[in-house]
Amino acid sequence: MADLDKVIHELVAANRILANEGVVDAYGHVSMRHPHDPSLFLLSCSRSPELVVPEDIMTFRFDGTTADGRKDNPYLERFIHCGAYEANPDVMAVVHSHALAVLPFSISSVPLVPVIHTGTHAGEHIPVWDSQDKFGDTSMLVQNVEQGRDLALTLGKNRVALMRGHGFTAVGRSLGEVLKISIYLPQNAQVYMDALRLGGTIKCVTPGEMAIRDEGGPGGRELGRALDYWAHRAGCSHYLHYGKK
Ligand code: MN
Repeated sequence: MADLDKVIHELVAANRILANEGVVDAYGHVSMRHPHDPSLFLLSCSRSPELVVPEDIMTFRFDGTTADGRKDNPYLERFIHCGAYEANPDVMAVVHSHALAVLPFSISSVPLVPVIHTGTHAGEHIPVWDSQDKFGDTSMLVQNVEQGRDLALTLGKNRVALMRGHGFTAVGRSLGEVLKISIYLPQNAQVYMDALRLGGTIKCVTPGEMAIRDEGGPGGRELGRALDYWAHRAGCSHYLHYGKK
């Protein structure tokens, strides 16, 4: 079980990192697919990411029920994660955030596109999921299996879906990749918004540039450098490097 223990500690580090970088606040969450059973995933009980400790990490099935017999209060929106893992076996980690900078693009007809080099991690196409389309008036949250599946359908093979008037959901082929996507997405949105205010012609990242940027894949040495930096800033390097001598 040493491997599972290490993964749980990395997930705790991811919670602390996202909070420290301002991607999540009281709300928002991050999960990982279970390293031993692809039909399960790991997610904290209902606690703000900055406060999450290893004991908070629970194991869930894709129907949102717990697979570890624990009775702790789960996140209402755990179905976001259920849908994403169920729909795509390549998805190894999921982030849900209410980051302010992306919200204008979730309610406007102007699509969010990559405009800075770090924004390319989010992929070329960023669809918007509108709960209104299929479910009419709701709390706007993803609170059941059907809503989670519908969000996953909008996400498709993309890496990010915005959620109208709510936030975004990002998926990664690794925990590091989903952190990279989630941290730079609001920065990309901020720069794009500033450029739109500035006026004039805006030059976005080209498909050719996107393809070259993507050659690195989901891991690599460069990502390790960022992870070390984010963990150090968040004071959680001991979680990220748990078990390493
Ligand atoms: Mn939410």
